[in-house]
Amino acid sequence: MTGTPATPGIDDFTRPYWEAAAAGELLIRRCADCRKPHHYPRDFCPHCWSEDVAWERASGRATLYTWSVVHRNDLPPHRDRVPYTAALVELAEGPRMMTEVVDCPPERLAVGMELTAVFRAEGDGVTVPVFRPAGEPGQGQSSSRSHAQPGDRR
Ligand SMILES: [Zn+2]
Repeated sequence: MTGTPATPGIDDFTRPYWEAAAAGELLIRRCADCRKPHHYPRDFCPHCWSEDVAWERASGRATLYTWSVVHRNDLPPHRDRVPYTAALVELAEGPRMMTEVVDCPPERLAVGMELTAVFRAEGDGVTVPVFRPAGEPGQGQSSSRSHAQPGDRR
């Protein structure tokens, strides 16, 4: 025994994914036969059933596909975190991923908005990838573009 907490969902197959997340990297799987990436991680390609699939580091960029603001969830740790934004995002590499959008008030969520991966340490020693709006302060972005919104003049 190494003292590692037994965390559901982490096994020898998915361990590289979680270890990468702990190091601030998002991994996807890519098929060597048809070249298509997929997510969540599987040990075969869901497109052509090839077993010749390998881990690949994703860019961490994504766009918002759809979401649902969850106001009630009795399961820990969500119980202490409502409301939160459960989201399906489309990774820049193509696969869609169930995740959570953080640091964004629900009224600012928009289909297609650009997101970037951040990594949140959970209490049980697991780090999970979540997403926040891209290009905003706090993420080391040097872009200082400002887009003036056309006023609604009457
Ligand atoms: Zn394939």
